[in-house]
Amino acid sequence: MGTRRQAYLDAMGIQTWAPRGGVASSETETLAPAAAESVETGPPTGLPIERLDWEALRAEVVACHRCSLAETRTQAVFGVGDPHADLLIVGEAPGADEDRLGEPFVGRAGQLLNLMLQAIGLKREQVYIANILKCRPPGNRDPHAEEAAHCRPFLLRQIALIQPKLILSVGRVSARNLLHSTDKVGCLRGRLHRFPETDTPLLVTYHPAYLLRSPEQKSKAWDDLQRVYRILHGRDE
Ligand code: SF4
Repeated sequence: MGTRRQAYLDAMGIQTWAPRGGVASSETETLAPAAAESVETGPPTGLPIERLDWEALRAEVVACHRCSLAETRTQAVFGVGDPHADLLIVGEAPGADEDRLGEPFVGRAGQLLNLMLQAIGLKREQVYIANILKCRPPGNRDPHAEEAAHCRPFLLRQIALIQPKLILSVGRVSARNLLHSTDKVGCLRGRLHRFPETDTPLLVTYHPAYLLRSPEQKSKAWDDLQRVYRILHGRDE
């Protein structure tokens, strides 16, 4: 195990790991996340969402007023990463930092997510990161069902454009929305699910913000990450 990987595991609070296949290599073209967020967008096209390309989809989200969160957001947070990524990470909704910076998973939870990815040989730029909701709920409250329903077509189109090998759903809100479930993360993790609309393999794990509050759960998150690694490398039995 390389010293860099060990440093990531130490930072995560994970003490042991014996990889069966070595360090994952970079196989995907990357995009700089900040650059992806700064792309100029044109006006919405009026086309159905399921026919939009990346540029038109971004423009639609930036201008979206489908739900009342448009009134309180600083900006919509579209998503970031490699548009051809094997791994799509789906979180809950922008928080205060994300709302301010226009990028998902920044701040302490984002830093932990980066470490989690690095521990399985992935850079943040090699995956795609999105949320159930593109706009911040005031006070970081849970998304309302109608807000998630209004926003779902945008995520569906992102999934259709990316065509990931695997979706990693992080946290309770994400898992319940993606799987139409009321179960807890502790019940949903550890099993390979399928995202209903596209039949894409889907794993559930804890949200990094939860792991910061409950570090005793990091070993379970590490089990989940190892399975992500195995699936992405075709080694999941
Ligand atoms: S949360 Fe989604 S549906 Fe609501 S305004 Fe933002 S982009 Fe539109």
